Amino acid sequence: MTNTSGNGAKLPRGRFAPSPTGFIHLGNAWSFLLAWLACRSRGGQMVLRMEDLDPQRSRPEFAQAILRDLSWLVLDWDEGPDKGGPHAPYVQSGRSHLYEEAVARLRAEGLVYPCYCTRKELRALASAPHAGEAGPAYPGTCAGLSEEECRAREAFGRRPALRLRCPPGEGGEERFVDLARGELCLSPAGLGDFAVRRSDHVWAYQLAVVVDDAAMGVTQVVRGEDLLDSTPGQVRLFRLLGHVPPEFLHVPLLVDEEGERLAKRHASLTLAALREAGVAPEAVVGWLGRAAGFLPAPAPCAARDLLPLFVPGLLPRGPVTVPKDILERLRALS
Ligand code: GLU
Ligand code: ZN
Repeated sequence: MTNTSGNGAKLPRGRFAPSPTGFIHLGNAWSFLLAWLACRSRGGQMVLRMEDLDPQRSRPEFAQAILRDLSWLVLDWDEGPDKGGPHAPYVQSGRSHLYEEAVARLRAEGLVYPCYCTRKELRALASAPHAGEAGPAYPGTCAGLSEEECRAREAFGRRPALRLRCPPGEGGEERFVDLARGELCLSPAGLGDFAVRRSDHVWAYQLAVVVDDAAMGVTQVVRGEDLLDSTPGQVRLFRLLGHVPPEFLHVPLLVDEEGERLAKRHASLTLAALREAGVAPEAVVGWLGRAAGFLPAPAPCAARDLLPLFVPGLLPRGPVTVPKDILERLRALS
């Protein structure tokens, strides 16, 4: 196994990081296709990691369906829950010890503190007018509690969440590369002191994704533009934990004609539903390849046919609208 190309350049290690909380739809297929192309077009390796942190919403049958649907699109990976590999397990629910260890290190440096705010108190913040996609910034209510004050709250049965200190103006901005946008320098302060562990002991996505990408040697992260707000906070975490952050590519979102991003309620746009309606995988890939700007017109094609055409700069700047008659269009390409 080699991780350098003939000319000595480092080959990327990319990843699929699906949450097994539902069937994958056209919007997920778009992000996965672009992640695969970004990595494989440079001869890199792909890791598949199941992000099943949320015990309430994750289901093993969805995890199975994700493996099936990615394979249907002929997107492959080198390491994953089904294949094993040097960084097993490739399922976040089996990796708590690594999150524990990372948080213990941050805590020892005073970078993490317990937060006793109740859901109700936090919900009141969430209805604030400027609460964005990533939720409202936590105002730091518990940032200055003494040990005694913490003990008093625990005596009342309150279990704390854990938050990373990310005060505005402190620590400055974080620098990272986005393959479409170039070098960005953004402040994580918009997130406020974000949670690294919930009060019910569920590890936060923000922490787990950084610990795992670092541990698995991931050097390239391709994901939806909706997560761009989270990236400066994650880059900060990479840095605080002593790791070099990966390169990023934040890709536009797929939206319906009302401008709503594709989600669970667009049940007819799951790959399973499309397949059942007679759509071929080459039709899905061809339509997405056209939407990405890699093909001059929608035409059936295999993912590997897009490899030489992949150029991040060609991706559209804003959301991509999925037309109402998408099923007819995909059928016509099948
Ligand atoms: N599991 C996350 C999701 O599905 C992954 C986000 C990421 O790529 O960092 O939204
Ligand atoms: Zn608090």
